[in-house]
Amino acid sequence: MKKPPDFDAVVIGAGISGMYQLYRLRELGYTVKGVEASDNIGGVWHQNRYPGCRVDSESDTYGYFWNKELLQEYNWSERFASQPEVLRYLHRAGELMDIRKDYLFNTRVKSATYDEANNLWRIEFVEGGSAPMTARFLVSALGPLSAPQMPKIDGVHTFKGETYHTGRWPRDPNGFGPDPKIDFRGKRVAVIGTGSSGVQVIQEVSKVAKELVVYQRSPNWCTPLGNAPLPPEEMEAIKKRYDDSLAFLDTTLGGFAHIWLEQNATDVSAEEREVTLEKLYKGPGFSLWLGNYKDVLYNPEANHLVSDFVARKIRQRVKDPKVAEKLIPKDHGFGLRRIPLETKYFECYNQDNVKLVDIKETPIERITPQGIETSEGLREFDIIVFATGFDAILGSWNRMDIIGRGGVSLKDAWKDGVQTYLGMQIVGFPNFFTLVGAQSGATFCNIPRCSALIIDWLSEFFAQVKQRDVELIEPTPQAQAEYTALCHKLLGLTLIGRTNSWFTGVNKNLEGRDKRDALLWAGGNPGYRELLGKVSANGYEGLVMA
Ligand code: NAP
Repeated sequence: MKKPPDFDAVVIGAGISGMYQLYRLRELGYTVKGVEASDNIGGVWHQNRYPGCRVDSESDTYGYFWNKELLQEYNWSERFASQPEVLRYLHRAGELMDIRKDYLFNTRVKSATYDEANNLWRIEFVEGGSAPMTARFLVSALGPLSAPQMPKIDGVHTFKGETYHTGRWPRDPNGFGPDPKIDFRGKRVAVIGTGSSGVQVIQEVSKVAKELVVYQRSPNWCTPLGNAPLPPEEMEAIKKRYDDSLAFLDTTLGGFAHIWLEQNATDVSAEEREVTLEKLYKGPGFSLWLGNYKDVLYNPEANHLVSDFVARKIRQRVKDPKVAEKLIPKDHGFGLRRIPLETKYFECYNQDNVKLVDIKETPIERITPQGIETSEGLREFDIIVFATGFDAILGSWNRMDIIGRGGVSLKDAWKDGVQTYLGMQIVGFPNFFTLVGAQSGATFCNIPRCSALIIDWLSEFFAQVKQRDVELIEPTPQAQAEYTALCHKLLGLTLIGRTNSWFTGVNKNLEGRDKRDALLWAGGNPGYRELLGKVSANGYEGLVMA
């Protein structure tokens, strides 16, 4: 006789998508358990508490549109909310879903193994967590940017001062903002890394540090965030139009409040283009990235025109022409890696207390107890901030053992490249689901908006699974191969697919991660919704259910 599972479904992760998925499963009558490695809900917003951390999506587009009560209750105070404000929002959402009662915190999954004889998943935890548990369905909502990655630098652990990684920032006693005890005032601070996290932390630390040295390996195409307070009367107006906003967001490439222009950059006059780009540059959020001419991420010539425009902006804003040149990306065009959004970032380099070290010119040789030594010599510091990013998309899954049918691990199944069906399921891993991971329609997207699409779709599916007493769900090899090929094709159409970045799985800090892979669904949010609609309309084609 088959053993019954402890739970119908276990959800790993209490971030934005994990919490919502667990709530939906519970509402459907599934017995559920959530497990979370950290000590609280909030996912990345619980972990990334560095000064300056804030959303790059317009606040009112970043949330749970499905929760009408929360939409009407919550007042965003800024156009682009800070980390404490987003975390407060998620805590309130957690309260409204009464989510905590179903989660075990401080419970990090060590391994999840498919037990074929009993058709269930056996989940084991790192010592100190829960006793093992079993589940019929296992949903991994681990987050694409939740496995922080330290750099490979000799002597990295010998430094005697304070060190922090942006992705694991200590918290204040109230649990929301950055730790006020981390005081950068009057200190000598180094920041390694100039991605979105580095840019945000540099802007803040430069205001108070005695000396800030930025170690930059690759510059990024940063554009202005356009943040401002959100007046209460405007918040009230936003509340009245949430339904319309949602309808609009559903038409945009990534669920952001920006939509391509109808023309190509190459089809308009230089004068017209300049006026348009100027307007977009002054616009909020991802205006220039995702509200640009529709050929910018596809046509090298169009891309070059926009890159040239942004390079001119950097030259205008940075006083020292040599420093400006170092801040202009030369190895990739505009928008082909994730654009960091900034507030007076470039002006930081006009301050006497801020210095830029281009480590392609003067490489870091080692970290010593006193500071950082490059080929130019040693600089001493009190604090080093590692803004070196994540083992993006794959790391959270690779850092636990996920063992499918026949004892095959997910790492092995993906060793020659990621393969999924819909970015949700993998052949050989029955009843195992991934949310906002590799090839998911929500990963290159405004995550709360796009992950809700997936969770709503999956919840419909799980309703039918329950109704039909389905106990086993697995994609067909053909459906997986076709979906994976489609991901490659769509990404290959874009210039993003030809660029090394976390979008394409390249990570210089990790062995064997120098080849590009199609980790993203690049067919856009509407395209993904259409695909999911087609799959369900055709009786969940591509999935074997027994
Ligand atoms: P990231 O974009 O991967 O940036 C990491 C930075 O560290 C890069 O500049 C990288 O240089 C550098 N680096 C890595 N290893 C290094 C080494 N060994 N030596 C020197 N430099 C090294 O990571 P992130 O800034 O944490 O951002 C990751 C993603 O999180 C973003 O793209 C974004 O999607 C999300 N995020 C969002 C927000 C927001 O919404 N506001 C804020 C922060 C992060 P190379 O480029 O040369 O590798």
